[in-house]
Amino acid sequence: MSIPRIVSDSGFARARLRQFLCAAILSAGGCTADPTPNATTPTQEKKDSAAAKWDTQRRQMVEEQLMARKIKDAKVLQAMGRVPRHEFVPEDCRDLAYRDGPLPIGQGQTISQPYIVALMTEAAAPKPGQKMLEVGTGSGYQAAILADLGVEVYSIELLPKLAEEAATRLKRLGYAKVQTRTGDGYLGWPEAAPFDAVVVTCGADHVPAPLFEQLKPGGVLVIPVGKTGDQVLRVITKGPKGEKQVRELGPVRFVPLRRPGDMPE
Ligand code: SAH
Repeated sequence: MSIPRIVSDSGFARARLRQFLCAAILSAGGCTADPTPNATTPTQEKKDSAAAKWDTQRRQMVEEQLMARKIKDAKVLQAMGRVPRHEFVPEDCRDLAYRDGPLPIGQGQTISQPYIVALMTEAAAPKPGQKMLEVGTGSGYQAAILADLGVEVYSIELLPKLAEEAATRLKRLGYAKVQTRTGDGYLGWPEAAPFDAVVVTCGADHVPAPLFEQLKPGGVLVIPVGKTGDQVLRVITKGPKGEKQVRELGPVRFVPLRRPGDMPE
């Protein structure tokens, strides 16, 4: 099911709309709902059983969505099996966190489908100690996956509210080393460049020149390119002399990369 853009401009109406969307996905059988809590269960047992439930759902996600679709990098699969995706989605969508699709995170934006996160991470070929830039922090989930893999992560988000929430969430969950910033990711993060990889998690109609420039020789830019609804995931490698090598991983659907002048509200 695709997630329609949320166009309401009141925070309350937006939250109600998101609740409605999540309920609609749940009733369409998107994922298993929370078991009814047992009033007599002691708190610790409840916590343990909730943790076990998320562990099971995460394992299933790795096997049925990622391995089944030929994500092969064992380290990427392990990271996807470790990072608690349910902590990165709004409370009222939590039971849908491990479903095979994107989810609304507020402000008309989405957290990407788990498979797409794994595919982009695999394409970025992260190694511990490398430095990577993410454009489009959103919930912080993709940044957390890269951080879990030992990468020094810089992540930029255009929308201040999402940027602040993601920064707080990343700290709370122990990904305190991720550097976050509110701003226009089109321009990259020149002070921290050059990067081993740049992962763009919003769709651009062309490849932003600053992002390619900020790659190290041998570095890789992973970016959805094309008009909204008609994008292709490109992996652009910078050769030793700055030359471009491009391969395509197939059609994708991302929210658009916006510039400060065309903010949604
Ligand atoms: N990577 C995110 C999902 C990102 S959705 C996650 O793991 O949850 C795409 C995000 O890109 C949105 O939050 C959107 O606000 C942001 N975005 C769009 N244009 C941008 C720009 N020019 N600079 C930085 N972020 C941008």
